[in-house]
Amino acid sequence: MLPYRGRFAPSPTGPLHMGSLVAAMASYLDARAHAGIWLLRIEDLDFERSVKGADREIIQSLQRCGMQWDEEIIWQSARTIHYQDALDKLKPWVFPCACSRKEIADSRVRMGLSNAQIYPGTCRNGIQNGVTAKAFRLRVPDGKASEIHFHDRLLGFQWQDLSAEVGDFVLKRADGFWAYQLGVVVDDAEQRITHIVRGSDLLDSTARQIYLQSLLGYSTPFYLHIPVVNNADGEKLSKQTGALAFDKGSKDLLNDALCPAAEFLNLRLSTKPTSITQFWEYATDAWKQKFFTDQGQSRPQ
Ligand SMILES: [Zn+2]
Repeated sequence: MLPYRGRFAPSPTGPLHMGSLVAAMASYLDARAHAGIWLLRIEDLDFERSVKGADREIIQSLQRCGMQWDEEIIWQSARTIHYQDALDKLKPWVFPCACSRKEIADSRVRMGLSNAQIYPGTCRNGIQNGVTAKAFRLRVPDGKASEIHFHDRLLGFQWQDLSAEVGDFVLKRADGFWAYQLGVVVDDAEQRITHIVRGSDLLDSTARQIYLQSLLGYSTPFYLHIPVVNNADGEKLSKQTGALAFDKGSKDLLNDALCPAAEFLNLRLSTKPTSITQFWEYATDAWKQKFFTDQGQSRPQ
């Protein structure tokens, strides 16, 4: 077994809310429980959605919670050259695509297919002369090779048919930004991540990432997807649904943020902690109780 390396990789689209604190906490506790390395990566590939100064705010919020990363923070916006390298390596499977979102949805309707999101393969065999490519897509395999399965440490056996459920997916977007799927795979490999712990809103991306890892010759990490925090309307907490910074105005992060986040993760702390340092000790023990005994999958190495 490789030495444990985990990470938290927030997008700086706003301050950390309760949902992102829960994700940060889960990855941090898993790293601590394995006596491993924990890294922080700022996923600021989409300059238009990134909010100036949000990265600093995120860093400070994590520090206030007593969370410490073990190596230098990386910013995806500074790593363009590495994504270009990966795109070059993927050349045999990549094709330019000139379709707009609307064209994709329309052609799905014409073909009588239900999900408007799935790419119907329009530009697979080339684009018309005089039309400019807007995006670059990865051709997904047909048949058996399109079925990706993996084990999730919490959710168990997972399965996705890339060709039926996703279609050829974007690596470089029409607006020139690198796609999340490519950035995350390249950086997880660069940071030698062995264990990914993140929200289950990203479960659906995992098969695409595993497929990219296989084409690029990277190893596949262990995955654990934790439940996402919803608001009262049942929507995932996010900046779009108006989630507030978890530490806004709080003078007692232990009781206002850390304990409720641990409770959301169903961690049973043996004693009520009286300090942040104590919280992390007790929560790490509770994490071990939960994940090292029930599952048998994630014993410390
Ligand atoms: Zn196209």
